[in-house]
Amino acid sequence: SIELTDLTKRFDDVTAVDGIDLEARDGEFLVVVGPSGCGKSTTLRCIAGLESPTAGTVRIGDEDVTAQEPHERDIAMVFQNYALYPHMTAERNMTFGMRSATDFSSAEIDRRVAQAAATLGIDDLLDRKPSALSGGEQQRVALGRAIVRDPAVFLMDEPLSNLDAKLRVQMRTELSRLHEELGTTTVYVTHDQTEAMTLGDRVVVMNDGRIQQVDTPQELYDYPSNRFVAEFIGDPA
Ligand code: ATP
Ligand code: MG
Repeated sequence: SIELTDLTKRFDDVTAVDGIDLEARDGEFLVVVGPSGCGKSTTLRCIAGLESPTAGTVRIGDEDVTAQEPHERDIAMVFQNYALYPHMTAERNMTFGMRSATDFSSAEIDRRVAQAAATLGIDDLLDRKPSALSGGEQQRVALGRAIVRDPAVFLMDEPLSNLDAKLRVQMRTELSRLHEELGTTTVYVTHDQTEAMTLGDRVVVMNDGRIQQVDTPQELYDYPSNRFVAEFIGDPA
């Protein structure tokens, strides 16, 4: 699980995240949705340790990780711009940094790569460099990099927004299937309501650094707690 308590992040005079309390339960796919600039990425970056909160705490499992560096946290991130290394093969991109870490044997890493590649349907692409892969294939490699690490938590920030509409819908289905298979606790950020409502076990609606409502997609449709939620959820993208 992930637990945010009174999480606040200010940049000079901008309050990006304004004292939020939030829990992602074990195995849950939690989607954070809201308009541009409402603080979604900043919240995710605080969970990842890429920003240090101005106030409040971040817990992962039963550990307070607020003061920990990103590499100390049991997380894997997937971003919008997959950020693959152009000079490395897909396989190397997936395992980068793991071969030197002591906690995985080479055989174990190979086994995990094979398994992740099979899950994502990229077995035949492992020797290729990113320039020889389509956008969707690159995004699968980026997902593979997260999966082979088998973290307690996946953090995803608009991972599908660079893909064309058709591929985005296809990858959405794939992400759902992947989550059913792996059951990894996931926090998924998007500004796309449809994506939020399709993917989320529960959906967090944010506006202006604050949480407006946390509920299942159905509950958000049926019982929006305020006008902002009703209009945001009701508004087709
Ligand atoms: P989008 O949907 O456009 O990605 P977002 O919800 O992810 O938006 P954030 O990136 O979290 O929004 O930004 C929240 C607010 O904090 C914005 O007003 C933004 O300008 C500000 N902000 C974010 N990062 C910084 C930074 N490093 N320095 C100053 N202000 C920042
Ligand atoms: Mg963002």
